[in-house]
Amino acid sequence: MFQRPTVINNVETFANIPFIALEGADAYRQYGTAKSPGTRVVCVSGQVKKPGAYEIAMGTLLREVIYNLAGGLHEGRTLQAVLIGGAAGVFLRPDEIDIALDFQSLAAIGATFGSGAIMVMDDTANVRGVLRRIARFFKDESCGKCFPCQIGTQRQYEIITRTVGAFHETPIHDLGATMRDASLCGLGQTASSAILSAIDKGLV
Ligand code: SF4
Repeated sequence: MFQRPTVINNVETFANIPFIALEGADAYRQYGTAKSPGTRVVCVSGQVKKPGAYEIAMGTLLREVIYNLAGGLHEGRTLQAVLIGGAAGVFLRPDEIDIALDFQSLAAIGATFGSGAIMVMDDTANVRGVLRRIARFFKDESCGKCFPCQIGTQRQYEIITRTVGAFHETPIHDLGATMRDASLCGLGQTASSAILSAIDKGLV
């Protein structure tokens, strides 16, 4: 409006600029890794003692974030799964949390940083219920412009809701591959990502 920007979509990028302008690029590069310099804000939620938003140096281990910054799990509980990258992210098993949180390390195991969301689930969590909520989110948010996503997210939700046994006996993998390969935008292309990762890693 009035030839001025009205929306800033990349707040995180803008937030990094003052430090770089004041201290210089080399100071910024002291944090993080060679290919993922700087810091990132991660949002840790779920069954940890201190959920919250934490600014970490890129390359910090996921285990450190969960057990040091976020205080670890509640007494007597064991880790069941971690969803990283939000609803369009992937599930990690407990034996995968020694991963460095930077773009290259996550990509190497098929995960993404996404929005920086980290959802921690202990042994009491209902992962199948989490998948149902993720599937409902994509079904509701699909704009309907292209069929793979419009129909695929609906069918995915139905399969997740109705299946009581093993998902491997359903067409959910074919559905996910079709949405990934044929949807027009990122929403449809990633609508099956978290769900298929949970199934393939034996979390449901
Ligand atoms: S993939 Fe994108 S364009 Fe296609 S229906 Fe889903 S939200 Fe709409």
